[in-house]
Amino acid sequence: MSRVRRRGRSTALRYAAGDVYMSFFPDMARNSLVARGEHVRAVGWLHPAHPYATGSVAPQFLARLKEFIRQPSLSGDDFCFPGIGGVHTCEFCGQAHGGRNLGLPCDDVLFVFPDMVVHYIEVHEYKPPDEFIAALLRSPLPDTEEFQVLSEPFWHLHRAQQC
Ligand SMILES: [Zn+2]
Repeated sequence: MSRVRRRGRSTALRYAAGDVYMSFFPDMARNSLVARGEHVRAVGWLHPAHPYATGSVAPQFLARLKEFIRQPSLSGDDFCFPGIGGVHTCEFCGQAHGGRNLGLPCDDVLFVFPDMVVHYIEVHEYKPPDEFIAALLRSPLPDTEEFQVLSEPFWHLHRAQQC
């Protein structure tokens, strides 16, 4: 079970005038900072001004997610994501930094998420969508040939979008 946490209104107001809204996308949205389209499912693009699902996740999932993100090959490159550049600092606590965006192919869908998602889970009780958890648990790791094969159609799709 997941519940939705609502943040205080003062937090929303504090951020309302900033330029940080661009990093927020609802879970399972068809767009994200680096990719958009009917095949896209956004995961973990959180922002303090918006409520998000919370709850515990299985240790097995968290371990696999860390392993996935730790892979030497940049998963984002597998999908022809545009380079966003710069370091992203956690907007909830200011204590963690990320900067990579990753893709997780699952059939004809591509989950798109920032590396900061691990921090959100561990520190801010974020619970990703069940579809994402299931897809990650059965996905090959990014530095495998199997992963490359699954990724290739999306790479071509994004390259075509940028032309
Ligand atoms: Zn944080």
